[in-house]
Order: sequence, then C-alpha cells, then structure tokens
Amino acid sequence: MTIHVLSDQLASQIAAGEVVERPSSVVKELVENAIDAGSTTITIDIRGGGRDLIQVADNGNGMPADEIETAFQRHATSKLQSAEDLWAIRTLGFRGEALAAISAVSHTTIVSRDRQAASGTRLVLEGGIVVEREPVGAPAGTVIAVENLFYNVPARLKFLKSITTEKRLIDEFVTRYALAYPGIRFRLSHDNRVTFQTTGSGSTADVLLAAYGPDVTQQLIEVVPSAPGQAANDERLPTVRGFISDPALNYSGRNHIQLFVNGRTIRDTRLTFAVVQAYHTLLPVGRFPMAFLFIDMPPAEVDVNVHPTKVEVRFRDEGSVFSAVQRAARGALMETAPARGLGNWVPSDQGLTGWAGFRPRAERDDMPSGQLDIPWQIQGPAPEQSIGQEAPAVSLPAVETTRLPIMRVIGQVGAAYIIAEGPDGLYLIDQHAAHERILFEQFMTQRRGQGIVSQGLVAAATVYLSPSQSHLVEENAGLLSALGFEIEPFGPNAFRIRAVPAILSRSDPAGALAAVVADLENETTPLQKEIEALVVKRVCKTAAVKAGQALTRDEMEAMILQLEACEVPHTCPHGRPTLIHLSAATLARQFGRT
Ligand code: ADP
Ligand code: MG
Repeated sequence: MTIHVLSDQLASQIAAGEVVERPSSVVKELVENAIDAGSTTITIDIRGGGRDLIQVADNGNGMPADEIETAFQRHATSKLQSAEDLWAIRTLGFRGEALAAISAVSHTTIVSRDRQAASGTRLVLEGGIVVEREPVGAPAGTVIAVENLFYNVPARLKFLKSITTEKRLIDEFVTRYALAYPGIRFRLSHDNRVTFQTTGSGSTADVLLAAYGPDVTQQLIEVVPSAPGQAANDERLPTVRGFISDPALNYSGRNHIQLFVNGRTIRDTRLTFAVVQAYHTLLPVGRFPMAFLFIDMPPAEVDVNVHPTKVEVRFRDEGSVFSAVQRAARGALMETAPARGLGNWVPSDQGLTGWAGFRPRAERDDMPSGQLDIPWQIQGPAPEQSIGQEAPAVSLPAVETTRLPIMRVIGQVGAAYIIAEGPDGLYLIDQHAAHERILFEQFMTQRRGQGIVSQGLVAAATVYLSPSQSHLVEENAGLLSALGFEIEPFGPNAFRIRAVPAILSRSDPAGALAAVVADLENETTPLQKEIEALVVKRVCKTAAVKAGQALTRDEMEAMILQLEACEVPHTCPHGRPTLIHLSAATLARQFGRT
C-alpha cells in the first residue's frame, strides 16, 4: 500500500472512536452541550438502550442558522478562542469534537433555534454528511436525535454490551449530571417510560431523593464547605461540598464514590482513596462508602484537557486537593458521629480508635439482647440425612481433615465469638462467619433439591432504587424469583417485595434486596452461576447472626452442631476463617510448659 492521506470521512470515523465509545458517551456529550447552552430543562429519550435512538432536547441558547453546519465540523467550537483559554474553562465542552464524532457514526437530526431568531433550522446528517436542510418553526433551544448509532462501524456494534448494561450506563451519566446541576430539570425516559426526573429545585438533596430513594438519602451526611478563613483564605484552594454516607451505609465496591470537579464528573483513583481514607477504622475492611463530592476550584488550577472524553483531569497541586477532600469528609463524619446509632454496622477488625461516636455496648439501645430466636436451620428435609441412611456399611475414607471434631461450648466473648473445647485444645468460632457458612450450605442444598422455600411477607415492603439499580433487578428477575424473592414493579424505580427466601423472614426485606442489588452492581462477571452464588452469599450474610448479638447456650450449641455438619466448615462463603484453633500443644508452648 502506498502512503496516502486518509479521506476526511475515514479520519472522522477514527477520531469519533475516541469520543464516542458507546451510547452513554453520546448521551454524556449531548447533555454537556445542553448544560453549556444554559438550559433549565433537559429531556432525554432513549430507545433500545441508545442503539435505536438517543434524543436530547433542551431549552438553551440554540444555534444561529448560519453556524449550525459548522458545529458539525471537526474542531468547531464556540467555547474556546486561544490556548490561554484552556486555563480558564468554565464550560463542560471545549474540544469541538462531539457533534462531529457523533454525526460521523450515526444518522443525526438536529432542530435548533437561536433565542433571538424568528425560526429554527432542521439539519439531517448521515455519516457526517448533510443530506437535508430546511428552516422550521421550533421553540428556542435544541433537539438532537441520534439514530442507528454505529451503523457504519459494525466492529463497534459488536463490542456493545447488553441493552440493559447500556441503559444502566446512560442512567449513571444522567444521574451524575442531575446531581451536579440540581437547578436544571432533567427527565430521562427509556422506551417511552420515564425512569428518572428531577424538579430543578436547585437542591442536591432533592436530586438524591429522586435518584436513590428515601432509604439511602436518609443515611447521607451533608459535607458543608469549610468557612472561608478557616482554610488560610487562599482562593486557589479547592472547596469541597456534597454528601457522604453514614458508615452504616456501605458497599463492597468503590463505584458509589462520585467525584465532580467544577461541575464535571471525573474519575480519579487518588481522590477516591482520599474519601475511603476518611472512613479509616469506621468501616470494615473491604467495605466502601457512598459519596457525592463536588470540588470547586479556579479553572487555572486544573487541566481538563487530558483525555478526549474529559473524564480524567490533572491538578496543579494534587496534594492540596487530596487533603481538602479527606479533611472535608472526615470532618463531616466526626461532627455527626456522636448522634449516630450503630445500626447494622459491624465494627471492623482494625479497632475503633478515632471513632468518636462509639459507645460501650451496654449503652446501645439498638443492640439485640438475650433470646434471639435465630433460624439455625433452613426448614425442609435435610438431604444429608437420607444420604446417611443409604450409606454403605463399610467405612468411607477419612474426611476428618476437613470435618470438625465434636466440640463442647464453653461460652461467648465480645458477643462475637463462641469459645469451645475440642479433643485437641480450644476453638474460637466467629459466630457470624460460621452462621454464614451453615446457611450457605443449607441454601445450596435446598436449591439443588426441592427448591428454595419462599416466605410471603405479611406487609409487602417497598424498596426505592436508582434507575440503574432498577435495571439490574429487572435483568435478574428470573434468578431472584428462583432464589425465593417475589418482587413486582411499583412505580418508576420502586419495587414491592411480596416474599423473600424463608431464611430472610426475620431480616429487613428492603435492606436485603438493596444489599443484593449493590453486590450485583459491583459484579462484572457474565457467568450466571457466579451471579447466583453472589446473591446467595448476600442472602446468607444478611440472615446470619451478627457480631454484637448475645447468644444463649442452646443457640451456641445448635450453631456448633450445624457447623460440624458442613462440608467446608473452616471458612465462610467469602473465604474468611470461621474458627481459630489453639491446640493443646500451642497452649502448652505459650505457657512455657514445654
Ligand atoms: P464543544 O462542546 O466542545 O464546543 P461540540 O461538538 O459538542 O463541541 O459542539 C460544537 C458547538 O455546537 C458548541 O461549541 C456549541 O456552540 C454548539 N452546540 C452544540 N450543542 C448545542 C446545544 N445543545 N445548544 C446550543 N449550542 C450547541
Ligand atoms: Mg460538547
């Protein structure tokens, strides 16, 4: 092949790949443009997860008729003049790439009317080429409809995930922008069904309520920006405001930590870590908070021109941003700590230093005491027994290596561990981990056998989810029902739980489902078996007795018996140990007897 310059169209297609990776990137760029245009209402209509249609309508400034075609050329922008402007950017866009990129890989129709103009213009582009243009009557503002995305880039089409995944990514972006711009009224619908809308009241809390529902919002703590003067009165220093979760609300992944810099949603592992650090000793290892933090600073302090999609930024003084974020989050946590109940929060192994709100156990009113009536065993015939009856009389190869010896309960320490004596020394059993293991094996046996026993709720519980979480529930409806959940839609992003797996009959059904959904959100495996195991583990974890619950001797004995019957008694389903063994020899050595 000879060296030659690529055709404009091919060059545009290649460049488009950087900006428009998937339907959600189109939504992001169009919404950013609508925000930059000073809109107060933005309406987003999606069909087929964005493959069939992405339409964004706004009531912003609109475009003058004689500029509208230019807007679709590469590197055409009204937001930047000179190189210095790059350091004073107040708009979300500035690269002039989005409209060119989007129209290069789709069928795009735009209707726009400049506020001052008497009529609007309608333009149709196919693969970036203008095929129609006419004046039309239209309200002030802009409507852009993107159809047949990637129709001319079949390779891209193949890389798209399921429609549900694409919908979820779109939901995430729209929710983020709604949070960053609470003064704008957003409405998002999928296939003609409104799934998310905000009032434009200007209050971030209102948007949180619309996106995450009352259960989650109630558990958020407001981060108020530090008073000027307190932070050396240096205006280059960032201010940080927003909301972070009470430690009781935590997740198994970091993806609920959302950061915004000057109104732009960004990804930054260091700043995410700053948030996580603020929770040091307040959360169990491997658990992460929810956070929505809005960081504002002079544009000259941050380079937004690092990445074509503008989701990564570089700070001039990274250290000061890091400490500002950490200080703001930690400050908010400490301020509210004394008033906070412990809820279902399980203390971490790392100790409780720095946790100002920790009260001794005796003072905690939310601590269950005495008789718990714990569901030790899943109802229904235990298949192990029938196997036992049919077992041949000859003795099988020893499985003692994995099985536990017979143990005698001595007592409980710290309302968390059972002490027992075995043939060879002492056993300390983690009551929560052990119970999780027991329930997990019983649940899986039941699933393989006659199926999961479901328990109807006397009063159906309502759970409010984010739009993306709702999609996950819909996507996994079959699995959830097979595992004993009976769930029905109850308005946009709300569900009614009518029945739960029987082992959850004593747990909060809405909390249990929310926890399952949070796990699903963090999981990326396409393997149905792994997804199922994830849900089952969560169900068992929720049903299992917690640390902090005092147990009666009968309850402890029942637990030890059940644990002895497990196939893999030494670890919980998540792989943590269920027990620590101090052999007679270890004890003797420790006491200097040998
Ligand atoms: P950028 O946003 O980086 O400037 P785009 O390709 O996204 O580049 O848009 C090109 C130009 O088209 C913008 O600079 C803006 O002037 C105009 N434009 C795009 N979308 C809108 C809109 N919704 N309302 C008004 N003007 C718009
Ligand atoms: Mg733009």
